[in-house]
This record gives sequence, structure tokens and C-alpha cells, in this order.
Amino acid sequence: MPSLRAEPTKTLAPYACHAGASRGRRHAEPPAPTRDDFQRDRDRIVHCSAFRRLVYKTQVFVNHEGDLYRTRMTHSLEVAQLGRSIARSLGLNEDLVETVALAHDLGHTPFGHAGQDALDQCMQPHGGFEHNLQSLRVVDVLEQRYPEWSGLNLCFETREGILKRCPMAQARAYELAEPGGVGQRFISGTQASLEAQLTNLADEIAYNAHDVDDGVRSGLITLGQLREVPLVERFVTEALDAHPGLRAMPTRRVLAETIRRMLSAQVYDVIDTTRGALSALAPRSADEARQHDGLVGFGDNMRRASAELKRFLFAHLYRHPQVMETTSQARRIVADLFAIYMGRPAEMPDEFGQADDPSRAVADYIAGMTDRFASREHQRLTGERLFS
Ligand code: MG
Repeated sequence: MPSLRAEPTKTLAPYACHAGASRGRRHAEPPAPTRDDFQRDRDRIVHCSAFRRLVYKTQVFVNHEGDLYRTRMTHSLEVAQLGRSIARSLGLNEDLVETVALAHDLGHTPFGHAGQDALDQCMQPHGGFEHNLQSLRVVDVLEQRYPEWSGLNLCFETREGILKRCPMAQARAYELAEPGGVGQRFISGTQASLEAQLTNLADEIAYNAHDVDDGVRSGLITLGQLREVPLVERFVTEALDAHPGLRAMPTRRVLAETIRRMLSAQVYDVIDTTRGALSALAPRSADEARQHDGLVGFGDNMRRASAELKRFLFAHLYRHPQVMETTSQARRIVADLFAIYMGRPAEMPDEFGQADDPSRAVADYIAGMTDRFASREHQRLTGERLFS
């Protein structure tokens, strides 16, 4: 029988991750007839319940504040889009980049970083909570969709990409459970695949750009203020010079044209810089590429410019009094829920309420909640109504 699998349209570079050379899954499975292993992982992620919940999880703005802002879902799609574009130009594996991008935020709590910080604080006596480790936990343990195993049984390369950071103690624990697995590179000081590094950078490019967009549209920051940031100023000026008519148009159009130019410049910068590094070192395989530090990245100027923008957003948007106000409510919801479930585990579904490790089960349950489910659950258990 002829193979049903679509032929790749473009040859991958030798340093790319090739699905056929994957280090495999923790539980061996027969190949799928029409998809390679990374495509199959992507489809498993798209169909899992943690992925659907990203629609109702805060990126920066709490869902209740408006329908137009990014959520974790639209953020993840933007990361996938940017990552794929860059991957294609570099001969890297687009499917793997897309897969990691769609999975990278699965472990995020409700209410963005406020929720993560609050849950981490509650979990301090019990080993802490970190959304990045939690994303791996979602795909390795928490998704319950297969008769033979817990989790989604994803490929090593997908799991490696999801685990961006890892404290040494945790890396040793992973290594003990799975020798030579996803913990190893943190111990040996090697890098993740180029696809993983690229997805990480695409994440940063995506949120800087969309937080500028959401920030201005929310009215919390203005385009005028943003022009203090050289990277933004450069593209506002370019946009207005190229289209003088824009001056008379609504800010929204100036903003969109500015962000479009800024995104393109960052994408081209990563492609140029990374191409240069790859052609200088010429790694002959994905594993050889993992031995080199920082192959995927911005050039020096763009790195500095992007860091300046990040600092601006931190000071003026993420720390804006109105954002901080919702932050403090979000922290209260998470802390209250944690205390209540620890005292009354029967308030949770049985799979969490009867788990062997009660604090971790409470963290898993809360981390899986959407913003609105967490608010409603808080109201049910305390009688207090926040965020409405
Ligand atoms: Mg992200």
C-alpha cells in the first residue's frame, strides 16, 4: 500500500529536528498513517481540554475587562504563527514549532501572572508552583484521555520544548524518573532544540507586540507615551513617513501599521542573526546544535531595543494601578480557593479531592481553572462576588 503520509514540501536543514529521528514517546506507539510524530503531537494538544480552557484565561487583561484583548489562546496562536514563519525561513521544523507554541502556556493559572504568583506563594511549603513545569505536568500527567496511560504521551522533542526552564532539584527528579529525558540538559548545561529556542523567542516577540496593542486600545498607555521607546518611535516615524495620510486617521491604524513594521523587523532580525550563527558553526544535526549556546536570537541592537520595550511595558502597563487592582483581586481568589480546598477537599471533584498528594492536587485543580470558573467557584464558596 502506498504511504498516506503527505510528503514534506521543503527539505529540512540538517540541524532541524526530523520527526523520523525523534527520540520517541515514553510509551511506544505504532506510527499514524497520515501524520508524522510532531504533527500528531500538535493534534493531541489541539484536542485536549487544557487547550480549550486557554480561551478563558487571562494574558494581561482579565477576561471581564473586555472581549477584544488577547487571551492565552490567541496569544498561543500568535506565537505559533510567528514561530512557523521564522522556522520556514531557517529550514527548521515548522510542525514542531507550532506544536510547542500551542502547548507552551497550557500550565498557566487563571488570572495571568497574578494567579501564578499567588498559587506559588500558597505552595511554598509544598515545593512551589511554576507554570512552565505545570505545562509539562498537564501533557505528561493531568490530561486523562487514553486507556493505557495518563497524559498525552507526547514526543521527547515536544516535551523538551515545553520545559523552557527548570530548577536543578526538579531536573534531578525528572532525570531519576526518566534517565536521559527532559531533565538532562539542565544538568549537563546543553541547550534545547533550535525549534524550542525559536518558540521561546517567538513568545517574547508576540507578547511585546500584542501588549503594546492591547495596552493602547485599553487606554492604559498611549501611543504618545510609547514613542519614548526607541523601537516604537522608529516604526511610528517610518509608518507616518510612508503614509502621510495616517496622521489624519484614527490611532488604531497608526498602531496597527507600527506593530506590523515592528514585528517584521524583529522576524527579519532573528532570521538574519540566526542564519549567521548557523552558517558559522554549521551544526550537522539537531544534537550537535544542542551543544551550542544561544544559536537562535536577536542581533545585539534588536536585543537591547526589545529589552527597553519590555521594561517600558513592565513599568507602565503591567504595573498600572488599574492592572494592579485586578491583580490584587485575582490573588485573593486564588489564595482563598487554596485555603478552602485544603480544608475541605470534598469541595473538589473526586480525582482531585481523593489524591495522594493533597496540596499538589489543589494546585492542579486551581491551575486548570479558567478565570470565570475560578471567580464563580470563589463566589460559591465565600459568598463574595469579585470581578463583576
Ligand atoms: Mg507565552
